[in-house]
Amino acid sequence: MERTLCIIKPDAVKKKVQGSITQMILDAGFNIIGMKMLHLSKKQARKFYEVHKERPFYNDLVDFMTSGPVVTIALEKENAVADYRNLIGATDPAEAKDGTVRKLFANSKQENAVHGSDSVENGKIEVGFFFAESEL
Ligand code: ADP
Ligand code: MG
Repeated sequence: MERTLCIIKPDAVKKKVQGSITQMILDAGFNIIGMKMLHLSKKQARKFYEVHKERPFYNDLVDFMTSGPVVTIALEKENAVADYRNLIGATDPAEAKDGTVRKLFANSKQENAVHGSDSVENGKIEVGFFFAESEL
């Protein structure tokens, strides 16, 4: 079983669609093995998105991700990383396929409703960023 991390981002929590997004994830066959709502600190957001620190959107992304509460969800399923990326759709909602989470709920390329891990290795690392093994 693979693990992957979902973060329901501040734009989606503000719109009160965290329940709808969680239901889509469950309906797609994922097991939720951990879930918490939290307000990220700047330090946490900077660290989580460290791979993007040289990108022009990094500071705006950190501001956005700390603009309100998020819901972090640890997911488990066979082929979880790729299946979850298919469920959420492309980074830019204008390019996301019909029926995907981002197509349905994202506002823009930045405010795109959800995070998803990009590799099996990062799935493990990112779940570990928010959850101790004893919580899962
Ligand atoms: P993904 O979340 O699909 O894996 P990336 O890892 O490339 O996408 O980017 C991380 C996050 O940074 C995106 O989900 C989005 O919120 C933001 N982002 C990415 N590219 C841009 C951009 N060109 N302009 C503004 N925000 C962006
Ligand atoms: Mg990414």
